[in-house]
Amino acid sequence: MRILVTGGAGFIGSHLCERFLKNGCDVLCMDNLLTGDRANLSPFLGSARFKFVEHDVSKPVALDDGIDWILHFASPASPADYARLPIQTLKVGALGTHNMLGLAKAHGAKFLLASTSEVYGDPLVTPQKEEYWGNVNPIGPRGVYDEAKRFAEAITMAYHRVHGLDTRIVRIFNTYGPRMKLSDGRLIPNMLVQHLRNEPLTVFGDGKQTRSFCYVEDLVDGIVRLMDARHSDPVNIGNPEERTILDFVAVLRDVVGRPLPVTHKPLPQDDPKCRCPDISKARTLLGWSPRIPLKDGLHLTLNDFKSRL
Ligand code: UDP
Repeated sequence: MRILVTGGAGFIGSHLCERFLKNGCDVLCMDNLLTGDRANLSPFLGSARFKFVEHDVSKPVALDDGIDWILHFASPASPADYARLPIQTLKVGALGTHNMLGLAKAHGAKFLLASTSEVYGDPLVTPQKEEYWGNVNPIGPRGVYDEAKRFAEAITMAYHRVHGLDTRIVRIFNTYGPRMKLSDGRLIPNMLVQHLRNEPLTVFGDGKQTRSFCYVEDLVDGIVRLMDARHSDPVNIGNPEERTILDFVAVLRDVVGRPLPVTHKPLPQDDPKCRCPDISKARTLLGWSPRIPLKDGLHLTLNDFKSRL
């Protein structure tokens, strides 16, 4: 089995490469290192079954050797990154997805699109089921990511319907774990770095907005199960334990065992007020639900951050 992971040098992509290598597969990782990092590959760079190709998948790719699966994870994913890289984000979601679908068609490969809870925008219903169509501002600062992923879902379904391509769409909710960039800009990396530098934690707005946080190993389990299921409609993968940002700070305080001072900053434009996956479909279809409690996942992530700071 030979698997192509685009964005394989990124946070989630590198965990996928590692899992597939552990499962005995050959892995080809393609990444232009715009937000990915070669250091994420160091644990398995020496493996004879692993190959890294530096390439921007927004540009066409041809591969001589056969490919069985393509998992398309290339994209900036942090709000700070896609605000900084709006055109690259749109291109990789649109042109990059088109190129990878074409490659999957040419090789008769199974294709998985890494989609996102951002397709639901600032949701008006909670928790979010896959049938919900979302509430997205197409021209706001998050529109470049949200609309790119919505387009990516649409073209993936079109290749499935028109060409009979064997496709999967995973809608990934907030995920955290080792190898997130220290400068990622998202909540958990920001707060872990702030804690380790003895700086106050930045809470945006009043901190009453909600998110739910899934440990990366749980997410990878869900994705592997989805590849093996015959289901082309989108599936939410995330942790359904919803908490406010202030609740999250309280959990982190328990993990580090000392008080954590907080400073408030303005809420970014279009920051979703709530986000929580309905994972009934993943439970019934894949027999999947997350196992790793937030406190345990935060311990593991904090240790990784300590070793890199
Ligand atoms: N947030 C925060 N402080 C930070 C970074 C983020 O309070 O230093 C908030 C942000 O406003 C949002 C939530 O945490 O409501 C999650 O933000 P993140 O950037 O992790 O990703 P999002 O879930 O918005 O895509």
